[in-house]
Amino acid sequence: MLHQFSYAGPRSKQELFRILEDHEGNAKVLAGGTDLLVNIRNGVMKPQLVVDIKKVSGYEGISYSPAEGLVFRPAVTINEILKNQAVRDHYPLLQECGHDLASYQIRNRATIMGNVVNASPCSDMAPALLCLGAQAVIASSKGTRVVPFTEFFTGVKKTVLSPAEVLESIIIPPTSAGAKGAYRKLKRINGHDLGIIGVAVSIKGDVLRIAVSSAAPTPVVTPDLPASISVEDAVAATRKIISPISDVRCSKEYREFMVEVFVKRLLTEVRK
Ligand SMILES: Cc1cc2nc3c(=O)[nH]c(=O)nc-3n(C[C@H](O)[C@H](O)[C@H](O)COP(=O)(O)OP(=O)(O)OC[C@H]3O[C@@H](n4cnc5c(N)ncnc54)[C@H](O)[C@@H]3O)c2cc1C
Repeated sequence: MLHQFSYAGPRSKQELFRILEDHEGNAKVLAGGTDLLVNIRNGVMKPQLVVDIKKVSGYEGISYSPAEGLVFRPAVTINEILKNQAVRDHYPLLQECGHDLASYQIRNRATIMGNVVNASPCSDMAPALLCLGAQAVIASSKGTRVVPFTEFFTGVKKTVLSPAEVLESIIIPPTSAGAKGAYRKLKRINGHDLGIIGVAVSIKGDVLRIAVSSAAPTPVVTPDLPASISVEDAVAATRKIISPISDVRCSKEYREFMVEVFVKRLLTEVRK
């Protein structure tokens, strides 16, 4: 039987923060619900209260300016990202990754915030955020703090967020605007499926970054590499950041092999 829970739909940030503080540890934020409701149905999570953040004033929309960069708010779905012109013009890697996340129907509900707070090692949005140097703006009744995504994930399904905190925006810096990028995801089937391996590569000016999902407890990214790096050195730098395991989906050795294949292919693609 489905675990019983109460529902709250706060309209302001103050109301949201108060609810989360009053129910600390017993409340869960609901965005699209495509991870949360599956977890509740499977008995993995048993919150007493589910707090819908989609109606909070100011929590909708994507904004872009050359000075601030790109800002995502908590109700932004993956399909909104795929349709957004500023994302297409300035940060196309986000759309490459978004296209590979689940199906059209799921993307209509699924948010980018939910994807990163869920912190699955196979997150499709994390590689783009890591390559583009994104920052997480985290808020609660106690104030706001900014954490780079290189420090956001702390383990399998774990992040730096405490129970009363909300991921209030994701900022992609203006310095990453115009970065060339590409993403490849290896799946068991041609339709929508969780990744066996996901690799993203971005180049902006003299800096090249490679981010990988499903190959470590968290999505990972290389340090900044020179854009002119050789294919061999790029593969070696990627090997250093991954620590894949064998599981029901494939072996450790196959993951290592496919990361190398994807790095080689993506480097050729982004250098065209
Ligand atoms: C059939 C299916 C296929 C899928 N395929 C993929 C796939 O191919 N690739 C992939 O990466 N994922 C996939 N997913 C997982 C899921 O769709 C994504 O992770 C999605 O982006 C989660 O977003 P959501 O808005 O639905 O999150 P929710 O389910 O609402 O929330 C997820 C978690 O984040 C928390 N949360 C959400 N927003 C905030 C916030 N602003 N602040 C604090 N906490 C917050 C919630 O409390 C919850 O713990 C799939 C899921 C399903 C059901």
